[in-house]
Amino acid sequence: MIAAHSMKDKTVALFGLGGSGIATAQAIVAGGAKVIAWDDNPDSVKRAQEAGIDTGDLRQIDWKQFSAFVLSPGVPLTHPRPHWTVDLARAASVEIIGDVELFVRERNLAGKDSPFIAITGTNGKSTTTALIAHIIKASGRDMQLGGNIGTAVMTLEPPADGRFYVVECSSYQIDLAPSLNPTAGILLNLTPDHLDRHGTMQHYADIKERLVAGSKTAIVGVDDSYCASIADRLERTGKPVIRISKRMPIRNGYFAEGSNLAYARNGDTAIVSSLAGIGSLRGEHNAQNALAAFAACRAVGLSVDEINAGLKTFPGLAHRMEQVARLGKTLFVNDSKATNADAAAPALSSFPRIYWIAGGLPKEGGIASLSGFFPRIAKAYLIGEAAPQFAATLGDAAPFEISGTISAAVEHAARDAASDGSSEPVVLLSPACASFDQFQNFEKRGEAFRSAVFALAGASPIGGIS
Ligand code: ADP
Repeated sequence: MIAAHSMKDKTVALFGLGGSGIATAQAIVAGGAKVIAWDDNPDSVKRAQEAGIDTGDLRQIDWKQFSAFVLSPGVPLTHPRPHWTVDLARAASVEIIGDVELFVRERNLAGKDSPFIAITGTNGKSTTTALIAHIIKASGRDMQLGGNIGTAVMTLEPPADGRFYVVECSSYQIDLAPSLNPTAGILLNLTPDHLDRHGTMQHYADIKERLVAGSKTAIVGVDDSYCASIADRLERTGKPVIRISKRMPIRNGYFAEGSNLAYARNGDTAIVSSLAGIGSLRGEHNAQNALAAFAACRAVGLSVDEINAGLKTFPGLAHRMEQVARLGKTLFVNDSKATNADAAAPALSSFPRIYWIAGGLPKEGGIASLSGFFPRIAKAYLIGEAAPQFAATLGDAAPFEISGTISAAVEHAARDAASDGSSEPVVLLSPACASFDQFQNFEKRGEAFRSAVFALAGASPIGGIS
């Protein structure tokens, strides 16, 4: 655990005791502060009390005693409207921060030389974070991985000489971390998302920009117009900016050229890596993730050879274009995380001949926006509530059946793919739907897919997902 010494001898209010809240409260207490914690859910308050944390109804307490208010990133700071605790903190002029800010302050006090990579963007955050962590770890260095990817950042080991931090940051975490100052900061891409929590695209982009604006080296994916103008703006302020592009050559930075990764300086280009044959990094979107990882690892001192060794052994993340098994020529891929059409597009664009398992609880717009990929669909196997709607959208554009369940879909798709004439037919679960009509969450849906695949006679698992 990282003790939050920046709060020593102070009294701190904390709200949000699900997820990382309890661990964060413990870190503040370990740093020598008094914490009064609260949550709107009485069960969470009870759990915190059982963990030895002082609790108190923050509506009934004098806020003048607080030096800081630590808010869980799941609780609205701005949109759709500030949480009631935010109003109280503002009225009492108490600063509002999150766990990433506590981490940053601790590193400033005790580990300024610990290399720190922070990652944000609309899509690809977790993949890029996991990839960087894997590369650093594979190089034999001391590496701590946390943040939005799942491990609360204050539960990591404290800053020490030669210890690397790789931290995924959501917009909410950035909004609560005014001193965020990574050694290398990555902004992968920006597309409209979560606007219900950010109001406007401009507000969302402004928050994301803060992560790279505070970095020693800013790494920015310039394939969308928002990020391109952020890169230009940062450079005008004198910030070192490394641009990355998954689709066009650039004069300074890293770009993809087919499956090669190239580095350019003043227009001189050298190939530094190849993603050919790395199954976990298929697709243009993963080229963006790999380029960002490459640039960040170079910025914190890894060699080209060390990075390439790590790229080659990246196992990928579960449920994101996860290669599950092979049966004869057929590859089985679990992309259960694709809960809407936009998220399914990268997987559909990555394979030429697809036996596509789709459906679940449909989102607005259905799969109409994916029609450009329908010629790749050898056949679709439709499940869940969306099946009739998706069948109507597919029409004559691709053959389909209504399979109903994942296990029927896997069985039928495997049978059909076995007689496919192409070199690598793919049975792909990329549902373009939420899972809640048939499963508790997308993870459970992906696990059901895996189990159905492993139940096929002769299927050989592809291991190694971390
Ligand atoms: P995040 O953590 O930002 O939600 P993930 O790394 O978990 O992103 O990837 C989720 C899904 O987003 C992937 O299954 C893939 O479909 C898509 N994706 C991954 N990387 C990118 C990228 N760089 N650009 C666009 N889409 C991406």
